[in-house]
Amino acid sequence: MDGFPTSGELVVMAASNLLDKLDPALLRPGRFDRQVFVAPPDVEGRRRILEVHTRDKPLGDVDLGVVATQTSGLTGADLANVCNEAAIFCARRHGSTLTQADFDGAFERVVAGVQSRRVLNAHEKRVVAFHEAGHALCGELLPSVDRVHKISIVPRGKALGYTLNLPAEDRYLKSREELIDSMTVLLGGRVAEGVVFGAVTTGASDDLRKVAEMARAMVCDYAMGAAPGSAQRAVLDGVGESEIRRRVRDEEEQELVFEAQHAAQRLIEANHGKLAELAEHLLEHEVLERDGIDRIMDGVPRAERRPGVGLRVAAAEAVDDPRA
Ligand code: ZN
Repeated sequence: MDGFPTSGELVVMAASNLLDKLDPALLRPGRFDRQVFVAPPDVEGRRRILEVHTRDKPLGDVDLGVVATQTSGLTGADLANVCNEAAIFCARRHGSTLTQADFDGAFERVVAGVQSRRVLNAHEKRVVAFHEAGHALCGELLPSVDRVHKISIVPRGKALGYTLNLPAEDRYLKSREELIDSMTVLLGGRVAEGVVFGAVTTGASDDLRKVAEMARAMVCDYAMGAAPGSAQRAVLDGVGESEIRRRVRDEEEQELVFEAQHAAQRLIEANHGKLAELAEHLLEHEVLERDGIDRIMDGVPRAERRPGVGLRVAAAEAVDDPRA
């Protein structure tokens, strides 16, 4: 590099989280030669990061391994934040050691935001309860989706209610069916509103944005659209895109969204009673935790998927299942 002698014992290191915004001159041979990509930590990495950030904090009966499995996808900075928030929770209740409950509260606060003082009227509360129950019900019924950890209709951050899904493990590859399942869960809230109240509200805008992003990625990045030649198009897209190509792509995205929407509709209509039970519990207690969800969903089988059979059939099976 200019200004540095090439034979001295000097190593220049730099870090950036905006690689694509860097001046390409910096990355030419002879400048920053080696690039090391640092991904968010895996479960073992998270456990060790948590150990670092709890070193000077009094820990009670907390298993950091468990906290690590619950915090999939969080970065080192998020984890530091979780540890700090846990200490604040502990201090607020005048505790002497940090407990698992402190970490649960901290995790919720970091992921879902600060509890807000917004007050909902009775009807709004019903809509939010059924919306969140819709997400949770679809999540419970679909085999590939992360289990619901907690549902709440206490407003936090910008959200009026939320459903926390925790992955059982770190996942790097997802199949088309799993992505459709995730979209089904996202649409479950809005569909539940439609089924119960006959109208949808503005509350689902964040869900819809995520669904649109997923459908776009499935078609453009993973070539999971239905139209023939979808793989080549995914590669060629962006290189002088024609009007017709754009239209085919839009239609493919639409189709994926419809598939997920129909699945959500079927699951919710076939399990209307369970939806109401989840929602009524929420209206009464405002939160519903894992054991409560287990009680309500006891005996309801998850929709099964045979290899090579899409969700359409799996959802129909759930409807026809005499045990359901
Ligand atoms: Zn939602």
